Amino acid sequence: MRKSFKKRLLLTIAAASAASISLSACKKSYEEEIAGTKETVISVEEGDLSDNEANISPSTAQVQTSIGPTVPAASDGATTITVAASDAATAQTAAQAVTTDTTSAPTVAETAAPIVFENRDETVYIMSDDVNIRTIPVTGDVLGKANTGDSFHRTGYSDTWSRIDYNGQTAYISSDYTTTKVVERKTSETVAFDSSWEFAGNSKIYSGTATLYYATGSNKKGKTVCVNAGHGTSGGTKVKTLCHPDGSAKSTGGTTSAGSTTAVAVSTGTTMADGTSEAAVNLKVAKAVKALLLERGYNVLMIRESEDVQLDNVARTVMANAKADCHIAIHYDSTEKNKGAFFMSVADGIKGMYPVSTIWQESDRLGTNIISGLSANGVKIFGDGSMQMDLTQTSYSKIPSIDLELGDKVSDFSDATVSVLAKGIADGLDSFYG
Ligand SMILES: [Zn+2]
Repeated sequence: MRKSFKKRLLLTIAAASAASISLSACKKSYEEEIAGTKETVISVEEGDLSDNEANISPSTAQVQTSIGPTVPAASDGATTITVAASDAATAQTAAQAVTTDTTSAPTVAETAAPIVFENRDETVYIMSDDVNIRTIPVTGDVLGKANTGDSFHRTGYSDTWSRIDYNGQTAYISSDYTTTKVVERKTSETVAFDSSWEFAGNSKIYSGTATLYYATGSNKKGKTVCVNAGHGTSGGTKVKTLCHPDGSAKSTGGTTSAGSTTAVAVSTGTTMADGTSEAAVNLKVAKAVKALLLERGYNVLMIRESEDVQLDNVARTVMANAKADCHIAIHYDSTEKNKGAFFMSVADGIKGMYPVSTIWQESDRLGTNIISGLSANGVKIFGDGSMQMDLTQTSYSKIPSIDLELGDKVSDFSDATVSVLAKGIADGLDSFYG
């Protein structure tokens, strides 16, 4: 009986398709389970609908795909789904309150017909990223996202949707992205330079790769922070890149003087009082920041993880633009005063220049938050915590982006101090995104 019922309903839907009826809302939301990749036709299965109810009219099919169902808790192995009445759909939704007894598989009335779930008691793994977890198949609210390697307890299975336990409640996820075979979590990926990125043509040193690390805990923030350990590109002083994307002249002095249109691709950086290179200290801090940010649920794009990376300042910045939500470059200044931490705020002279004009307020807000985070952790701050500077990084940034100077040649960079700096930066990011 079940089989014939299913056949009848599918035939009904086939007939509806032939009559140019589109379950468009339904199909669209299904496709959106993962960002624009798969196209799968929904196959609805049998239920306890009468012929009359199953043979829904075209207009009803459209209405029903947009109503908001609610899912009461299951009891005794049976699932009772009541679809909330909404506008014109009242008559049909009332008919869709479906109860199954404990002898048959639980059903969920989703849109035009219920989905039948075979009872399961197993662990499933997710095979893709950004897969929606919903309160009910197709049209339910999105409770969260699942990513490659995430696992869930599956309590019900159908060809199209799986019923899972999610944070103590029943939820649904597309069966297409589930498997009972163990899928390892994706923890990182290599990022190579892409010449199609905006401003990529202005880079001169771009053969190196960065690494994008994924947060794997349950506290994922859905934000990627580019942590850029300043300097550390051999040959970086032998070539020059345009200071600004449009070739205009620098508005402030600094490592390169005002009025220049080009600057060294990557400068050497300073040397700490004990002879350690600034690049090495920047890297030490960057690694500590990376570990803490991952722990707090941020993804981290690490530009440099060893002494050298063949990516100039333009390449680092356009890569951050493409792969991250914000960009923090770690530096120490060349003074010998232990003057404290500050960030390079956006120079007035470039605030009208594209792309700076689109983002400079957010860059300054990022810097202000980071300095506040450092200060709250007892880190000494220089002046008001900022200094205007026209930098290559800022000039090419399309995301909130700062050059952060954590101290100077005589500042302490012991493990204890570095962990305080990392905590201050992470706290600052939390408040920036808070
Ligand atoms: Zn530096």
